[in-house]
Amino acid sequence: MFLGCGIAVPGLISADGDTVTYATTLAWDRVNLRPLLAARLQTAVVLVDRGKAAALGELWYRGRATQADLIYIYLGTGVGDGLVFNNTVHEGADRAAGEIGHMIVDPRGPLCKCGNHGCLETLISGPAVAMRAQAAIKAGRATLLTHWLAGQSLDALTAKMVADAALAGDDLALEILEQTAGYLGIAVANLVNLLNPQLVVLGGPASRWGNLLLEATQRAVQQRALDVPRRSVRIVLSQAGDVTVTLGAAAMILRQASQLLTAGW
Ligand SMILES: [Zn+2]
Repeated sequence: MFLGCGIAVPGLISADGDTVTYATTLAWDRVNLRPLLAARLQTAVVLVDRGKAAALGELWYRGRATQADLIYIYLGTGVGDGLVFNNTVHEGADRAAGEIGHMIVDPRGPLCKCGNHGCLETLISGPAVAMRAQAAIKAGRATLLTHWLAGQSLDALTAKMVADAALAGDDLALEILEQTAGYLGIAVANLVNLLNPQLVVLGGPASRWGNLLLEATQRAVQQRALDVPRRSVRIVLSQAGDVTVTLGAAAMILRQASQLLTAGW
């Protein structure tokens, strides 16, 4: 039976669920997406923020009975998160909670599309990682990446290539990974101190770095978070992997369509 369509969006959703209020990575500003898609698809449509969808998907995959609380951090072209407490996604007063991508970790850092400087997303997103590698190559650093580009312009360099180079043991790529995990570690340490979570899950395309990213982030959190919450938190990679966001979007439509999932979601 086709119940409807859950759409995960990398941006904020309005309180009525109809509009993508803004999505910096898509350069969308107040797009009235839900009614538009519902009319076109002739079915129920639910919009959900991508970070929240990923958190729900991870929770569903891990089994709600065994995991009531988690923070999911989505690492990709954009950076977002979903905060789940007692099986419930924290929405905030305006459904705007979960914007870790705009947590300011370096006030003297790069300008963000939101207007602030040094938001986490400007330092660890896919484009930010690629730009750091491009700048280092321009400055003359030796790296495997130069060979992989095989004469193409530096614009062809992607975060995925930097991740692959790190996995191949390239010094520059490993340095960029350490910087990236350092910034991520600042943000996670802030969350750990603020919320005392049981579990922090790292997911999205950057989880391609696997244990390299995980262990470097764990080290950064060890250095920065307070003793008590730091000892209890587990920082892990997503178990659900690539399907996490899709699972979460499906969970949203299931909740609306049939209450197959019990109260709380
Ligand atoms: Zn920002």
